[in-house]
Amino acid sequence: MDRVDVAIVGGGPAGTSAAWAAAREGADALVVEKGVPRDDRDRIGPDSTDAAGMLDYWVDIMGIPVEEIPDDVVLSVLDGAEFIGPTESVTLEETGIDASYDNFGFAFHRAKFDDWLRDRAEEVGGTYRVGASVTDVETDRSGDPRHTLTLADGEEIGAEYLILADGPQRTVTTGVLDQFLPGGRSVSDYLGPKEANHIAYQEHRRIPEELFDPAHIKFWWGVIPGHTAYPWIFPNDDNVARVGLTMPMDLELADVANPEDYALLDADDERIPAGAVYLRRLLEREYPGYDLDDFPLVEDRGKSGGTEAYPISSTRPIDSPTSAGIAVVGGAMGTTSAFHEGGDHVAVRTGKIAGELAANDRLMAYNGRWKEAIGDEILRNVTFAEVVRGWEPDDWDRVFAATRAMKHRGGYDWSGALRSGTTALKIVADYKWTKRGFSDGKYVQIRQDEYTV
Ligand SMILES: Cc1cc2nc3c(=O)[nH]c(=O)nc-3n(C[C@H](O)[C@H](O)[C@H](O)COP(=O)(O)OP(=O)(O)OC[C@H]3O[C@@H](n4cnc5c(N)ncnc54)[C@H](O)[C@@H]3O)c2cc1C
Repeated sequence: MDRVDVAIVGGGPAGTSAAWAAAREGADALVVEKGVPRDDRDRIGPDSTDAAGMLDYWVDIMGIPVEEIPDDVVLSVLDGAEFIGPTESVTLEETGIDASYDNFGFAFHRAKFDDWLRDRAEEVGGTYRVGASVTDVETDRSGDPRHTLTLADGEEIGAEYLILADGPQRTVTTGVLDQFLPGGRSVSDYLGPKEANHIAYQEHRRIPEELFDPAHIKFWWGVIPGHTAYPWIFPNDDNVARVGLTMPMDLELADVANPEDYALLDADDERIPAGAVYLRRLLEREYPGYDLDDFPLVEDRGKSGGTEAYPISSTRPIDSPTSAGIAVVGGAMGTTSAFHEGGDHVAVRTGKIAGELAANDRLMAYNGRWKEAIGDEILRNVTFAEVVRGWEPDDWDRVFAATRAMKHRGGYDWSGALRSGTTALKIVADYKWTKRGFSDGKYVQIRQDEYTV
């Protein structure tokens, strides 16, 4: 059996960053990645499905100096984001959070980003098995090795520390953590794929020159039903954009209160439309006078034929059973925002913290360290996700109109809200009230002391 200090399940941004940090600290770090073929990558690698937008302050959370990111990873520098409701819209040119990066953000090539992260990890001595699925992990706290990973071909790997970076499907995380949850509880009770994840579908389409806006990402809220369900357009290079959407899994049309209020539902729909149908309707509605043929699929991008689908974790995070020598990082632990679905920055950061601590036999500090590093971001995101629960199309219009008024009157603070009327005041009050309920780490769904290790 091969032995390593730190075994990492999953080679996305979280797992790769864990390997980089652990190897840099002198540990033997191995990433096991099941390996997904993509049309935009020559070798198999991590899944890499992503709208791949990075905001200014996320760069600081990620902790990677932007000048180190290779030019061919960055596809488009962004000046702002447009939020579009059924009839109202607002464009923001600032995230409102201090950041070292000068622009609003950038859109990037996720497969190249992941490959670059892997190259970095290998440069400092991290190793990879790609095309190998982890099918089982046995943990014996007093054993040597403490963890034994079994791969799909039957091979076993022993490890002192285990970092779970298997993303939103949590194929390994769930079974590993369940053994430490008392009373028949399961991680699936909190992070079950259908309840805690959204499904995302995305198409890479060439946009007609006269319509292509390379500097703004666009989000449409209140046009499709479901909690934090929305389509987007993210500009990339060469007039190509990622046109995508995210929506809850298993949403039933019968459960939608006022289906006629949603611009991308049709009166004769019998079920929630497939992602491709929604995106066709979005383009037809936004760009009247154009046909879908005017937005051709770019078939050498994405996972397959210019399209891709993957789950997004859309929930609140969990702690890890660190005294068993285990850390869960990134999407697997639920750090991806349930509000805007951004998660690469927190995946990189949690991976780095876990890798560094494992290499130095200090993994017990992980649950405190990740909260120090990304707690503010998580608190903001879970609060926003809760505040918008149950919002209908009209609510989005009201909020975008109020935000536009606040913006024009000079700020998003209390006095700006006062001058912008009751809608703005109510949003600020809701936000503050909800945030208080999640403060002091109460956003954590399974606390460290709930594991019996
Ligand atoms: C369509 C879409 C759009 C998004 N847009 C954005 C965005 O604009 N900005 C942003 O910041 N975030 C965005 N996200 C979220 C972001 O992609 C995730 O937060 C991020 O990928 C999490 O990284 P991770 O390393 O934790 O997990 P993942 O990237 O999911 O990586 C997990 C890896 O584990 C591997 N794996 C799983 N099980 C096993 C196993 N048993 N054995 C071996 N390997 C295994 C998988 O193949 C996968 O490669 C988007 C996500 C989607 C799907």
